[in-house]
Amino acid sequence: MRIGLYPGTFDPITLGHVDIIRRGCALVDRLVIGVAINRDKGPLFDLDERVSMIEVEAARLAEQTGTEIQVHAFENLLIDCARDVGAGIILRGLRAVSDFEYEYQMVGMNRQLDSSIETVFLMAEAQHQAIASKLVKEICRLNGDVSNFVTPAVEAALKRRLRQS
Ligand code: ADP
Repeated sequence: MRIGLYPGTFDPITLGHVDIIRRGCALVDRLVIGVAINRDKGPLFDLDERVSMIEVEAARLAEQTGTEIQVHAFENLLIDCARDVGAGIILRGLRAVSDFEYEYQMVGMNRQLDSSIETVFLMAEAQHQAIASKLVKEICRLNGDVSNFVTPAVEAALKRRLRQS
């Protein structure tokens, strides 16, 4: 059984992430979405909120693609998380050249930690490529329309949270 791990912060999950998950489903039998706690990044949504938003999308995508999708929160090393869930592949999305340098370093170091785990990069559809959680939050905070970037459920959660703060 081919198991892939798609790790990220998902603060919150965007249509860019959804695009990558859908593509990842075509490559593996089970896709584990690894949700990093990432306290350092000071996430807008706490871990439980991010996980439940992903679970809603995951259920829909699993039905559409026929691939098993699990959501798994992790706080340890990515490579250890991959081993814990039995993943032989780490999936990452690539947006712009700016993503490349960081990803290049990550692959280089992760490969030295465990050479049996391969990292595979995927690119989203053109209209989803530029979407970044950070910018979606900024646009929503300034009362912009984020409906092209996130699902209606995530949009509602963003509005609720950003109105509170
Ligand atoms: P991280 O903190 O790991 O960067 P993110 O939630 O920002 O977490 O992103 C998780 C993964 O999804 C990363 O590989 C990132 O490059 C990818 N990703 C995010 N948005 C997009 C997008 N619009 N198109 C392609 N990949 C994306």
